[in-house]
Amino acid sequence: MMHEGCSGSFENGKQVVDKIRMMGFANQPMAMPLYIKCTECDEEFEMECHEGKCPSCHMVYGATPPAMLLIQTM
Ligand SMILES: [Zn+2]
Repeated sequence: MMHEGCSGSFENGKQVVDKIRMMGFANQPMAMPLYIKCTECDEEFEMECHEGKCPSCHMVYGATPPAMLLIQTM
């Protein structure tokens, strides 16, 4: 299914991160710094790009523009 609607759902976080990478957003800076708290180890860190990694446990996070939906993946 290639259709992408606002009601579309993602299979899992890894799929979202792959999509972010495919669209070239992974290394683009965020419009505004996003501080998140790792759900795995409670480490707080700043996501500078749309793809970020917890410095403590290396959990990967992805934020999809423009909705900035935060997705976590292993
Ligand atoms: Zn962590």
